Amino acid sequence: MAHQDHAPGRLMSTQPPWLEPIRQRLVLRGRDGWLPSGVLISGSPGVGKALLTTSVVQSLLCQRVSSDEPACGECNACRSLEGGVHPEVRLLEPAEPAEPGKDILVDAVRDATEFLTLSGSGGALRALIIRPADALNVNAANALLKTLEEPPAGATLFLEAARPASLPATIRSRCQQVDVACPSIEQVHEWLAAETDQYERVAEAYAASLNRPLLAREILTDSAALEAWETDRQILTGLLSAADLHSTAAALQRSVPERLIPRLQALLLSAQRLLLVGQLDAFGEQFPRERLLDFARARGARRLAWLAQQALEWQRQSGANLNPALRSETIALALGRR
Ligand SMILES: [Zn+2]
Repeated sequence: MAHQDHAPGRLMSTQPPWLEPIRQRLVLRGRDGWLPSGVLISGSPGVGKALLTTSVVQSLLCQRVSSDEPACGECNACRSLEGGVHPEVRLLEPAEPAEPGKDILVDAVRDATEFLTLSGSGGALRALIIRPADALNVNAANALLKTLEEPPAGATLFLEAARPASLPATIRSRCQQVDVACPSIEQVHEWLAAETDQYERVAEAYAASLNRPLLAREILTDSAALEAWETDRQILTGLLSAADLHSTAAALQRSVPERLIPRLQALLLSAQRLLLVGQLDAFGEQFPRERLLDFARARGARRLAWLAQQALEWQRQSGANLNPALRSETIALALGRR
């Protein structure tokens, strides 16, 4: 829950402006005691769902602010929340959050819902945050139903989901859905420019993030994220004119599939667009135009469309425990064929 906004040398971080009206609305409802027992926060990856939930909960629990102001960040409640130890807040995540797609299991849900009934200092709010709710397996989702139907007094469940449609209808119908709409590119650029001293890299970072504002901020402020992008760009640039299967497969293995394959897919779409419309999109602009065009011409529009479709399949498999060498060779083989 804590983020690295206060590290020395970094600019003070601000709440993305597209989240602020939603935060205010939910906080006011909470102050009036009208927060529903289930709030389903939906929106695309990196749009700020977790930030929104955290700031709503923190605003409501902060000891210094009233009305819809943002939390102070300094009082005891704010500090314990940022440290992940607030007694009225429980965060439910997959057992190993480093592995996306890992399930949230039924025992963890039982444990967390019990917390809602046991604790309670009679404060403003008792919150269970499920991050992401897409990770609830069927049994775990079922175990939530009773709590959503008959919530203990003062309890609210916040379910964050990039794919709310994948949740059981029984869960969705018991929650009030709050959708975080995608901000305009201008809005994101403006916010990112205020978050960094590298203004000239804002458009690049947003393209590199595949339009995920919070990841774009990470690329601008965290050297590891920037380095990861530089590596991926190098690998992808190499792929555009790779001579043989083995060097392509070896290059692919220099990155993490979960990170590289979505970027590979974006590059394939850029190549397709360049071939058909003669224009580069923001992602394609990060690569040498002539090499991208040569790559696109050698394959043709139909082949590129097929590859982009394939990339979605590779992406679905990227969480699975496949042999990395075999996976890289499969991709290299598909890319090399003309
Ligand atoms: Zn506070």
